[in-house]
Amino acid sequence: MAITETDLTHLRRCIELAREALEDGDEPFGSVLVDETGSVRFEDRNRVKGGDETRHPEFEIARWSAENLTAEERRTATVYTSGEHCPMCSAAHGWMGLGRIVYVASSAQLGSWLTEWGVPAGPVAALPIAAVVPGAITEGPVDELVGEIKELQRRRFG
Ligand code: ZN
Repeated sequence: MAITETDLTHLRRCIELAREALEDGDEPFGSVLVDETGSVRFEDRNRVKGGDETRHPEFEIARWSAENLTAEERRTATVYTSGEHCPMCSAAHGWMGLGRIVYVASSAQLGSWLTEWGVPAGPVAALPIAAVVPGAITEGPVDELVGEIKELQRRRFG
């Protein structure tokens, strides 16, 4: 499946959420859950500044989906996100049986930027989604939007 105009619209919202997170003192990541009909059902952004390092938007989406969607709705949903899921969020996504993932920047790209800026590696390996959820359907990186994410990450970490 190629990236469509609709995908780009949702990814731009993820970038807005990431910007909002950054401006509020959190890390610049944002995600949106869209159902089979194209409706945005839930969205969130990173909220780690209070000290809970698990407050990633993709993890919130997985938990929200457990309470609010049927298994069929989860399977046919798409999760859009500004940065590829970390292993924790990939696992949550996989356990909940959520559908396609579309991300702007890959974990490998983020890792190379952090190295470039001299940021020490985090405590969790930056495994690609497919290494955690072998059956995942993923799309990304989306080259035309990567520069916007790199700029937000640079403002946070660079
Ligand atoms: Zn995560």
